[in-house]
Amino acid sequence: MKILVTDPLASEGLDLLRQQGHEVDYRPDISHDELLEAIARYHGLIVRSRTKVTREIIEAGKELKVIARAGVGVDNIDVRAATERRIPVVNAPAAPTTSVAELTLGHMLALVRHIPKADASMKGGRWEKRALMGVELKGKTLGLIGIGRIGAEVCRLCRAFGMEVIAYDPYLTAERISELGAEKVELGELLERADFISIHVPLTPETRGMIDIDALRRMKPTAYLINCARGGVIDEGDLVKALREGMIAGAALDVFAEEPPIGSPLLELDNVVLTPHLGGSTKEAQIRASIDAAEGVIAALDGKRPKYLVNPEVLS
Ligand code: NAD
Repeated sequence: MKILVTDPLASEGLDLLRQQGHEVDYRPDISHDELLEAIARYHGLIVRSRTKVTREIIEAGKELKVIARAGVGVDNIDVRAATERRIPVVNAPAAPTTSVAELTLGHMLALVRHIPKADASMKGGRWEKRALMGVELKGKTLGLIGIGRIGAEVCRLCRAFGMEVIAYDPYLTAERISELGAEKVELGELLERADFISIHVPLTPETRGMIDIDALRRMKPTAYLINCARGGVIDEGDLVKALREGMIAGAALDVFAEEPPIGSPLLELDNVVLTPHLGGSTKEAQIRASIDAAEGVIAALDGKRPKYLVNPEVLS
């Protein structure tokens, strides 16, 4: 079968496809019009976020049997148009799990040991030991909002640091959460008990603005908030107010309501650590995304159920 790859992709997935006897054309710079003209000759299409897989493209892909997104979000793919033509859409949601969990730990340590501040201060010619007094993670309580793939990995890593972990996730049973090493609690209890709160939920109507001024007021003044999930879960205006007024000790954010957060007051606050949506930005996560997407394509072309199928309706 012929597979077209239209975004930059780690070579591991392409190798896997070739080992299975598929022909792979790698055209990471292809334009929309070139893709529209070429797609009729291909059985599989692999993209990341650059390529817009519109209804027009899907309809022109007369031979298309699978569309793969080497990543999580499928906003750039017209999934409805694919489903209407019974084309499976596969993705790679587990690829960044370890990377995001490790970045979360990095953010926690950066906050409590003032690593970014210490670095900037030394490079400014200072030696400020006393002003940069920190606290340990050991013995502290971590509150996880969402304990799915990433939350569970953060739980495992934090337990290795000697932390107690509590979790709010209404979709998981207390038994499942306990198996993962955490105690199931309600959101209010989590806000009041946790020394660190880390968010690992998707952005949904239910989670949008979940951390607002009322939630922030319930947190301990010594607590830290970390968000490596999705920007809209925290009301950023309320967070700025909470940080300015010392309602909480600090926050670390990898994701923002608008990216980049141009002109945001968050950029000027001293008690916040920021990274530009780096959660999945590791070599390993990119390789895993490439392999997971390729495996999805291989399964679909073999007539098997792909592990990560976005539109399972196509199978019925
Ligand atoms: P997942 O689906 O495995 O886990 C999400 C968990 O959230 C599930 O257990 C679910 O039950 C729970 N949940 C859903 N709604 C909830 C609610 N209202 N209250 C509490 N819990 C709720 O997802 P994941 O792979 O662990 O990813 C978690 C988040 O991380 C997602 O938002 C994802 O977009 C984000 N993410 C960020 C980056 C990054 O670069 N920073 C990379 C990958 C994923």
